[in-house]
Amino acid sequence: MTVTTTTKHGAIAVIRVDNPPVNAISQAVRQGLEDAVSAIEADTEVKAAVILCAGRTFMAGADISELGKPPLPPHLNDLTDTIERCSKPLVAAIHGQALGGGLEIALSCSHRVAVPGTRFGLPEVNLGFVPGAGGTQRLPRLIGVEPALNMAVEGKPVGTEAALSTGLIDQIVDDLEPDAIEFARKIVAQGQTARKLNQAIAPDSFSHDLFDQWRAKCAKRKRGLDAPLAVIDAIEAATGTDVDAGKATERALSLKLRKSPQSKALRHIFAAERASAKIEGVDPSVARQIVSVGVIGAGTMGAGIAQFFATNGISVTLVEISAEAAATGIDRIRENLSQSVKRGKLTQGRAAEILPLVHPTTDYADLADVDLVIEAAVELLEVKKEIFARLDKACKPSAILATNTSYLDVSTIANATDRPDQVAGLHFFSPAHVMKLVEIVRTDQVAPWVLATLAQMMKKLGKTGVIAGNCHGFIGNRMYQSYQKAAGLLLLETGSPEIVDQALRNFGMAMGPFQVLDLSGIDVGYLMRKSLPGDRVHPYAFKVHDALVEAGRKGRKSGAGFYSYSPDGAATDQMVLDLIADTARDYGVTPGKLSEEQIASRCMEALAQEGLAILDEGVAARPGDIDVVFVNGYGFPRHRGGPDFLQRQ
Ligand code: NAD
Repeated sequence: MTVTTTTKHGAIAVIRVDNPPVNAISQAVRQGLEDAVSAIEADTEVKAAVILCAGRTFMAGADISELGKPPLPPHLNDLTDTIERCSKPLVAAIHGQALGGGLEIALSCSHRVAVPGTRFGLPEVNLGFVPGAGGTQRLPRLIGVEPALNMAVEGKPVGTEAALSTGLIDQIVDDLEPDAIEFARKIVAQGQTARKLNQAIAPDSFSHDLFDQWRAKCAKRKRGLDAPLAVIDAIEAATGTDVDAGKATERALSLKLRKSPQSKALRHIFAAERASAKIEGVDPSVARQIVSVGVIGAGTMGAGIAQFFATNGISVTLVEISAEAAATGIDRIRENLSQSVKRGKLTQGRAAEILPLVHPTTDYADLADVDLVIEAAVELLEVKKEIFARLDKACKPSAILATNTSYLDVSTIANATDRPDQVAGLHFFSPAHVMKLVEIVRTDQVAPWVLATLAQMMKKLGKTGVIAGNCHGFIGNRMYQSYQKAAGLLLLETGSPEIVDQALRNFGMAMGPFQVLDLSGIDVGYLMRKSLPGDRVHPYAFKVHDALVEAGRKGRKSGAGFYSYSPDGAATDQMVLDLIADTARDYGVTPGKLSEEQIASRCMEALAQEGLAILDEGVAARPGDIDVVFVNGYGFPRHRGGPDFLQRQ
């Protein structure tokens, strides 16, 4: 199949790429473009050309099926050089997305126009490598060093308006092909020759301190990641006087990082996140629409869940036990929104639109018309069963009822209704309006359309949904319990929470296990363990935890837990160290010195073993689902790919 065709409109040629579904830059596309540009160079009738794509997007990036195979010529960097060398103006006419290689091709053209709604970006850094076809060299020449650092180090795409304001595109057009041809005619009439992005950058156009400032920023915000630092090196190389040396630096960094363990891990988790949206044995077309939502409980989770839906424009009926509790919940959302405005994450105008979508009430009858209810009341089975029996009566027959329970049996809750096939778990993570992960808990009774609806809705609203079987703690909390058990034993062996926390932070976890317990409340696990039969709890891994709770040290909320908290921050406290030493002695644990690697590897081993049991039991459908849960819900370092991936290396 021919994937590129050239047509002539007087002196303007149009090169059209047509490689469905996303015009991936396959070998055939590269060859087709190379040949088309050479033909245009040779054609004396043609004065300029437009490069555009059929279908829903401009070239969106590399052909995934070629990744990992020996590269086939022409290579993308040779193609971009050919395009840049063309003596006639070449106009990239862009719609949809110009990402990665797609943007690199557009950057090698002399001009760029785009329709509104187009997105432009160099997302390679998110997959652990550096653009390899001149992206880091041409972008700073076109839009300036700092805007280029912003785009390529952060890896976040920008929209059409931002692209126009930085000079990434020359014009926004309405009707892509005719307007791009018109644009090409205009530049020919004006006698504009092809502009080249291969000139040295004027040294006084930027501050040389920028690079070190960005390195310092990455050391804090992108701890342990190689690719952002390599992108900074590549862009710095673009500011040298030797243009070819800059390109060679980019190429070398790109090739080296593509083979790195970090890139392998990042590509794994990217693919695993995509795969997690698919549900074994469920046809996605049976999903129904969710237009309105009810939330039961306006505490930490309920308020966050209500805020999440309202932020996405969905009306929420928020039910509490009293008008005061409902008002407290609304205040919590108002406070969250004002924090987001302060941090620049939300405009005042947007924030003002969100709160009116949340309707507080104490009357279950107000839920008569909602399509979905999410219960986020206290973690007590009897309370939840009573709530679900009431919901069953109050809600319309087609409504889906979901529980945000952390550990309870979803089937038992479902059986409190006459519609157990329409009940599932929807386990959000705290803070619910921020954390991407949602476990969708599949019981034996639940209907396929219910799962499909929940999965599709989560995806549409930007959450990462993972299907989990119905067991104590589902995928995430069940594995996290094993991890915490290993950390509890290490606490007794090393004698200090700080030693264990630091080892895991240095491994890359967002927080150490005891910092997490102090933040979320040590009493949560305490109450959960009390509800379990004695033989399900390790005889001494949690003894220090239980003693702290019984001494009133529940974590940050009570001013002290594994650490003591003051306005100066967290501090280790002799009382805790003594308690650990006494507990270790009582249970015959010999304290010893363990390296950070030993500590991290013991915790990872515990995670991996529980993960294998979860896979064996079918609680997770795919190994990648375990990784998706840990990376998106538990602060596991993305560049290590997840606990299952790590163990398989
Ligand atoms: P919370 O104590 O902060 O809030 C619970 C709210 O539910 C309270 O405001 C309470 O007044 C209200 N409530 C109690 N009974 C009710 C009823 N019959 N009708 C309406 N409202 C009622 O608790 P939380 O931390 O938000 O946890 C809620 C649920 O979410 C629990 O099942 C918990 O296990 C789960 N969960 C919590 C977290 C977390 O980090 N806090 C994370 C995931 C899941």
